[in-house]
This record gives sequence, structure tokens and C-alpha cells, in this order.
Amino acid sequence: MPATCGIYEALWLAKLHFRSARALYLHIPFCVRKCAYCDFASWGTDARDPLVREYTAALSHLLEEVAQAGLLEGCTTAYVGGGTPTLIGSGLADLVRRVRAVAPKVSELTCEANPDSLTDELLYKLVDAGCTRLSIGVQSLDDGELQTLGRIHTAWQAKDRLSAAVALGIDVSCDLMCALPGQTDKSWELTLREASSIGVGHVSVYPLQIEEGTAFDERYGNEPLPWNDTEVQARRMQAACDMLESAGFERYEVASYARPGRECHHNRAYWTAEPYLGLGCGASSMLTREAYGRLRAVAHQLPELPYDVSRVRLTCTSGRSELARTRSLGDLSFDIEMLTEAQACAEDLMLSMRMVRGAGPGLVEHARAVLGKREVDDTLAMCAERGLAHEQDGSWVPTHEGWLLGNELYGLMWGLAPDEVRSFNSC
Ligand code: SF4
Repeated sequence: MPATCGIYEALWLAKLHFRSARALYLHIPFCVRKCAYCDFASWGTDARDPLVREYTAALSHLLEEVAQAGLLEGCTTAYVGGGTPTLIGSGLADLVRRVRAVAPKVSELTCEANPDSLTDELLYKLVDAGCTRLSIGVQSLDDGELQTLGRIHTAWQAKDRLSAAVALGIDVSCDLMCALPGQTDKSWELTLREASSIGVGHVSVYPLQIEEGTAFDERYGNEPLPWNDTEVQARRMQAACDMLESAGFERYEVASYARPGRECHHNRAYWTAEPYLGLGCGASSMLTREAYGRLRAVAHQLPELPYDVSRVRLTCTSGRSELARTRSLGDLSFDIEMLTEAQACAEDLMLSMRMVRGAGPGLVEHARAVLGKREVDDTLAMCAERGLAHEQDGSWVPTHEGWLLGNELYGLMWGLAPDEVRSFNSC
């Protein structure tokens, strides 16, 4: 064991007791129309719908409320996602300005954007308001594939908007999807090559999943899908890795690649036990016991925590109309999960396996102390035996096989959690 383990563990422990969030997420649940594969909390609407304006105004009020409760004082990243945040036009720039005003320590502020609504004018307004990073939903640079996905932009539009954002000097990320109907190895290669040559600093790559209740589920749910089977998914993810790495990107998470220094700090917070606060329909939060106490001071409907809970996960279950009418978190309902220290630790181990750097010495040492040395060492040995993870300078890092068989690896780590997680609804 490295001599510095005690320091690593102390650093790890410190973040389990942060009194505020480290990352802020705001959810805009509106899109022009629903894509065929999408199961996110989003609804097709017209940007002129009064509900869109009312919802955004309500988010601003909630922001003020959580800031006054001290929940944003340690916040260093913010992310406005959706949905399609760029659908709300200059209202998005106003929201970015509000975030800047109430969370002054934020150094990375990302807005999700879709090519069809990211106009030049909006780009300038966003940068002027304090947005430092754009995550653009491209998915494919093949018009046939885009059409099948139900996307409303063309490949040309996507390339044009990526180039315009890159030219402004802002950090730009591009989301791509593989194992799509009609996609070939060649069309995937072309999409990757074109996207990486535009000058973006970050690319996220996901295999298509057929989610329940989507148009794709209705269309393809009951048939075998040779274009989406695990072998095709693995081959396309490997092609992405090879091509992006040869273009100067480094993989730092199972689905994320960045040029040096361009990693997304906000997303990294989700995988490294940094507490985060989500506002909006379907938005999730992960808070320490201390930060939850501050939230409860403004949202009295939330239950008091049993003595042994050290982490709380919340998901807002209020609908968009209800949210648009509210001026306080106290009016909203949440699904709540309460985790003991041991459950939180197993969760951290599981999430760390998404990252290239894996579980560092501090987390591993903390896990041995909280979950039992024998249990943790047996599980790690099992991961090594199955070729899913291996030890490297005191850290445990996932192997290539571990990522391909992610569910098996994550399941082994989560299996260290004692007992069932307690869950509640705040209604
Ligand atoms: S734009 Fe994004 S959030 Fe909106 S429907 Fe399509 S995939 Fe879903």
C-alpha cells in the first residue's frame, strides 16, 4: 500500500461531507419534436408556447432559492441540459447570466445545443453571458441516419454549427451515436473522421439503446436487431476509440474522449462522488447529508434523515406545468433514495469503473475500511480473475474487457453494498 494512502483517504472523505453542491444541473424539458429513440424528460413544443417562458422563469426563482440556502457556494461547474436548451433562444443566455450571478465560483458552464436552433446570434449571446462550453447533439453526419433517428437537422447544418462554435474559441463537445439502423462501418468511420477534423475538443460516443416507450421500441421492440447487437456495438465503440485516439483525443471515460485539458469537469463530478444539485423536471441530485440539511431548510416536505444516512439521491417528479407555476422547491415532489456510508462507498466504486483512472488509492482504502477488507479484496480479485479490472500503482482500473462487459463489472462493485437502499416519495 502506498505511504500516501492516508492522505488520499482523507481527501476522499472530505468530499463526502461537502456542505454545498459542487456541480449544478438545470433541465430544459422542451424540444421541437421527440426523436424516435429518446426517453429523456422532454416534450415536443413550440418555442412560443407560454409554458416555455413560465418554466424558465420558475427555474430562475429556484436558482435564487438554492443560492440563498448556501447550496451553490462551492459550485464550480454548471450544465444546462435537456431537452433542447437552445430552443428557448435568448432566454437561455438570460439563464446563463443568472447562474453566473448566483454561483460566482463556477468556472465551467456548459449549454447543450441542437444544430437547428443554435443560431449565430444565440452563439454570441451565450458566450457574452458566460457560457464556456457547448455540447452539441449531432449523433450522426449521415443524412439518412439522422432522418431514421427522427433528428430535425441535416449533416451539413451540424458541421456548420460545430465549425461556428469552434471558431468562437469556446470549448465544444459533439455527441455521436453508433449501432444505428442503416449505419455501416464505413458511414460510422466517416462521421467520426468529419466530426474530429472540425476542431472540437471533446467527443462523446454512445451505442443506441432501444428504450421502453419510444417510437423505436414500438418499431423494433419485438424483433432481433443485427445492426444493434452487442458485437456491432463493441466493434463501433472500438472503431471510435481507434480513430479518435489517432486524431489526438484521449479516452477518459467509457464514452468520453477529450483533447488534452478538454475533459468535461461537470460530467466527471457525476463519476467521482462530487455532490451535485439538479433543478427542473426529472432532474436528479446527489447530496451529502450536510447539503441535504440545507435543502430541507427550504423544502420542508422532505423527510428528516435517519441517523445512519450519509448520502441522498433525489429526482424531481413534478411535471413541467407544475414546475412552471412554482416559486419554491417546497412545492415540488421528489423520489428520494437514502444511502448509508457503506452503500455510498459501493456506489462510488461502481461509478469509478467508468473512468480510465478507475478507483484511486483513497477510494480503495476507504472501501476497505467501510465495506470490510476481505470483502473488497475478494471482489477486486474476482474482477482481476475475470479480466474486468486490474491493479495499477495502488489504483484499480477497468480493462478494455471490463468496459465491454460494463454491467458485469458495475454489478460486482455494487454487490458490495449491504442491504437494500431505502426509497421514499416526498408527496
Ligand atoms: S433533441 Fe435530444 S432530448 Fe430532444 S427529443 Fe431528441 S434526443 Fe430527446
